[in-house]
Amino acid sequence: MEYISTRGTIAPVGFIDAILMGLADDGGLLVPKQIPALSAERLKAWESLSYRELALEVFSLYIEGEIPRDELKKLVDDSYGTFRDPEVTPVRRINDRLHVLELFHGPTFAFKDVALQFLGNLYSYISRKNNSIIHILGATSGDTGASAIEGVRGKEGIRICILHPHQKVSKVQELQMTTVNDANVLNLSVHGTFDDCQRIIKELFADVSFKHKYHLRAINSINIARILAQTVYYFYAYFKLARQGVQGAINFSVPTGNFGDIFAGYLAKRMGLPVGKLILATNENNILERFVKEGVYEPGEFRGTYSPSMDIQVASNFERYLYYLYGADAAAVSGIMGDFKKNGRIVIPADKLKQVQADFDAYGVQNDECLATIGTYYDDTGYLLDPHTSCGVAAADKLAEAGEVTVALSTAHPAKFNESIQLVGIDQTFPAQIEALFDKPQHQTIVEGTNEAIAAQVVKFYEA
Ligand SMILES: *Cc1c(COP(=O)(O)O)cnc(C)c1O
Repeated sequence: MEYISTRGTIAPVGFIDAILMGLADDGGLLVPKQIPALSAERLKAWESLSYRELALEVFSLYIEGEIPRDELKKLVDDSYGTFRDPEVTPVRRINDRLHVLELFHGPTFAFKDVALQFLGNLYSYISRKNNSIIHILGATSGDTGASAIEGVRGKEGIRICILHPHQKVSKVQELQMTTVNDANVLNLSVHGTFDDCQRIIKELFADVSFKHKYHLRAINSINIARILAQTVYYFYAYFKLARQGVQGAINFSVPTGNFGDIFAGYLAKRMGLPVGKLILATNENNILERFVKEGVYEPGEFRGTYSPSMDIQVASNFERYLYYLYGADAAAVSGIMGDFKKNGRIVIPADKLKQVQADFDAYGVQNDECLATIGTYYDDTGYLLDPHTSCGVAAADKLAEAGEVTVALSTAHPAKFNESIQLVGIDQTFPAQIEALFDKPQHQTIVEGTNEAIAAQVVKFYEA
């Protein structure tokens, strides 16, 4: 399988080079040259597979011989052997029309582990095979950082430096990152916002000689390996319900920020999975809801919400969908992204909007509605939703029609966002692994939010 850029001006690359490239060198995003199409027979044959077996089959389609099957199997087993649930991503029935796909059974209790456990092992594999140094540099609003650190801590040939905004992540997120005491991990707690952290990282990566000199690699959600790993659980959930006798297409409702998770669902659908509605749930930062409803993609005013991992104004994976919306026309995508950079907005014509609305349904959840949904489900069913999952469930309640079955993706364990759960007046018990974090010493360096201060820390760490 070869990978090409959504902007069409790089030579096709193989899977491993696509992982290492991260963002395509022409500024676009990497996508598979063809999307593999699965026959009904193949889908039927996959129906009884375990999560790990299914992951191996899906990855094989996209990695095709670049990693021998037995080594790929080991990567899959190592990545999903760390999950606390033997099913990896179990599906819980809430009622006849709603099921919750629990994606938070990995080491850091958020769905990012599904992709980053795999990507961490993949980086380690590439480092061993190519004898190359891998220095990961990333910014986080909380979940990605913890998950990326957990994916590579203690691994030979790899070091990781993660920037987070000082005192602007949840307590549990901060502890998960900073209580790690491996020598290959550096946490920079930056005076400023997540957007400042992200901008600084972007600017450091843009300095190509700096990037090469220090072997810098990305970990953010535009990495194609993350998308592929997330495709697996759409299949898993579908087959699980099919085995229970649910017939026909199933809706998926996805709490969305950077458009990575829901794009994985779109890819699964394009591969042939019978997906009904793909429900795009946002919080009050609703650029994607407005896009699906009005055909205008334009960042709005930033809002702080109870679901901070979805507090995003520009969705970094959106360009991948644009590419398919425009029939794989890279020149059209280049033009649109160029205009977006100039004018700060994208407006699509009516026929394209019709296609968007055939692909997605969207709903933006207000802050009070997010908390109210947590309260209602807890009272009615005893099931505690985290505030991100709550957005997905609220959107499913709004948009799923009678007779439809919907799987709402649960992207985090509620213990990660206790600040919000307490506002609903619910007292939760923390899992032992999270409780234990509060007694551990923290390791982090607090720095000014300037390129110079961060670059100095990065150089010191990677030269040591
Ligand atoms: C990252 C994250 C999201 C958003 O996922 P995207 O792939 O960026 O759309 C939703 N919920 C939680 C808990 C997250 O950590």
